[in-house]
Amino acid sequence: MYAAGDAARLPRGRGEHWADAQEQGATAARNMLGQDVAHTTVPWCWSDQYGLKIQICGSLVGTPETSGDPARHDAAISFVHDGALCGAVCFNRPKEFRDLRSEIARSEDGPETVKARPV
Ligand SMILES: Cc1cc2nc3c(=O)[nH]c(=O)nc-3n(C[C@H](O)[C@H](O)[C@H](O)COP(=O)(O)OP(=O)(O)OC[C@H]3O[C@@H](n4cnc5c(N)ncnc54)[C@H](O)[C@@H]3O)c2cc1C
Repeated sequence: MYAAGDAARLPRGRGEHWADAQEQGATAARNMLGQDVAHTTVPWCWSDQYGLKIQICGSLVGTPETSGDPARHDAAISFVHDGALCGAVCFNRPKEFRDLRSEIARSEDGPETVKARPV
């Protein structure tokens, strides 16, 4: 049996976001089809609130570093812990968000790896 989305609980907890449901579903499907792949994506979510696109990824721990102006709905806030980028919150900066999420995925520790397996 496989689980994905709101029904799934990973070691880091439950995501309960659209993006988690999509990406976990893709990992579960690959394993159902016989591939032996781990779920290694950096968790993220988004929400559109009128003219404001909010995107969040990784772990929001450590020291926040802000570029731009959150009050003007144009900013990126990076969270650095032990010298490594581990999380980000972006307001109306989708391209920067993609770059930050990729950087987190490449970080030395890497994202949490969860082996999809039958339970
Ligand atoms: C009000 C609200 C606002 C949200 N806003 C955001 C947001 O801004 N950004 C974000 O990332 N996430 C948001 N979420 C969370 C997001 O909607 C969920 O995390 C995501 O939909 C989970 O997907 P899922 O496929 O796991 O579950 P679901 O989307 O809940 O899909 C489960 C499906 O299974 C069906 N089902 C249930 N029981 C049975 C059964 N016994 N047999 C057959 N079918 C069944 C249901 O009808 C449903 O279609 C929001 C959620 C809510 C409630």
